[in-house]
Amino acid sequence: MKAKTKYLSGFVSLSLVFFIAAGLFAGVQGILSRKQNTIAADGKEDSISIVIDPGHGGEDGGCSSEEGLLEKDLNLSISADVCAILNAAGYPTVMTRTEDMLLYDMYQDRNDYKGYKKIYDLKNRMRFTQETQAKYFVSIHMNKFTDPKYSGLQVYYSPNDAGSMRMADMIQKYVQKYIQPENDRQTKASTKGIYLLHRMNIPAVLVECGFLSNSEEAELLADASYRKTLSLGIACAIMEYCAGSSADG
Ligand SMILES: [Zn+2]
Repeated sequence: MKAKTKYLSGFVSLSLVFFIAAGLFAGVQGILSRKQNTIAADGKEDSISIVIDPGHGGEDGGCSSEEGLLEKDLNLSISADVCAILNAAGYPTVMTRTEDMLLYDMYQDRNDYKGYKKIYDLKNRMRFTQETQAKYFVSIHMNKFTDPKYSGLQVYYSPNDAGSMRMADMIQKYVQKYIQPENDRQTKASTKGIYLLHRMNIPAVLVECGFLSNSEEAELLADASYRKTLSLGIACAIMEYCAGSSADG
């Protein structure tokens, strides 16, 4: 197991070099594309805002690894890195949370949230995204399964906007190409079970970054440099998708 982990770490370092090149290329392409499309006919700035949503938080840790690694912390770490990369490339982003907390009382529309915390947390993430008039929504999560053999990033997309599937495919393919060549997962349309994707009317995806139930993948996700590599992959894919989507329309 150790040898495989070492091999994977070596691969990650190597892929980082490719990533930086690919990232710069996608970033420059995106910026150029945006430069041609930022001024709308009425002369107003046509901003591309992306909501990045770190899943769970506070008393809701999400899933966890055998070593006690919590999903909520990894989600926040990767989301912050994705935002930093997108911002540096000129894409405005906003995060639903930047701290270790749930968002159920964000709009203070109840006195007592007992029994309603999870649903209000999700409702408020939705409301926040609508109020920011975001063009794209990306939720960051971790996966788990009863059988520990499963691993690899998996992207879900909203069935309500055709762009969702394109963005999901872009993220899935980028990560498969540069970080996880053994990952043969296909993107999946969300079901009613994924509250936010089921209700979003903008291009919206949920990225399950890896399985905490798989000890090798959990070990990788515990490593900040691996998380940065994964974040770079996700961000490059988002930029490439946004550049194409912006050029189309
Ligand atoms: Zn989750």
